[in-house]
Amino acid sequence: MIHAGIGYDVHRLVEGRKLVLGGVEIPHSKGLDGHSDADVLIHAICDALFGALGEGDIGHFFPNTDPRWKGKPSRVFLHEAVRLIQLRGGRIVNVDGTVIAEAPKLAPHVRRMKTVLSEILEVHPSRVAVKATTNEGLGFLGREEGIAAMAVASVDLPM
Ligand code: MG
Repeated sequence: MIHAGIGYDVHRLVEGRKLVLGGVEIPHSKGLDGHSDADVLIHAICDALFGALGEGDIGHFFPNTDPRWKGKPSRVFLHEAVRLIQLRGGRIVNVDGTVIAEAPKLAPHVRRMKTVLSEILEVHPSRVAVKATTNEGLGFLGREEGIAAMAVASVDLPM
C-alpha cells in the first residue's frame, strides 16, 4: 500500500552560519539558524517521510531541547527516518522536494543534493527530485530573511 506524506520547514538566515541544503554545503554570505545544521530541505523530507508513516513530526523525534542533536548534521535525522521505514518493512517509492530561496542560486548544486539525498535515502537518484525556486522578491523569503522547503514522499508499506 502506497502512503503519501507532506513536509514543510523554514529557517531564518543569519550571518556566521554555514548554509547546508540537502546535505550539501553551499557557499553563501549567510547560513540557516537552528539547533542542528538547520538543513531546511532535509527537515521537510524527514517530515514527509514521518507523515507517510503516520508518525509525528521531526521535533517529536529529535527535540531541539535535546543537547544530543545540537549542531548535528541533519543527515543523521534523515538516516533515522529511513531506518524507521525499514523497521516497518517499508520501502521509499519517491521523494520530491522544493527549496524556496531568493539567494544564492541553487541550480548549480541541485545535482549534488540529489546524489547526497539518494545515498542517505538508500534509493536510486531517479527517485529523488530537488527543485529550487525564488519567492519573486515577495515577503520574508523575498527579503532573504529565511529559506523554506516543501517535500512530499511516498512510501510502500505492508498492509
Ligand atoms: Mg527545521
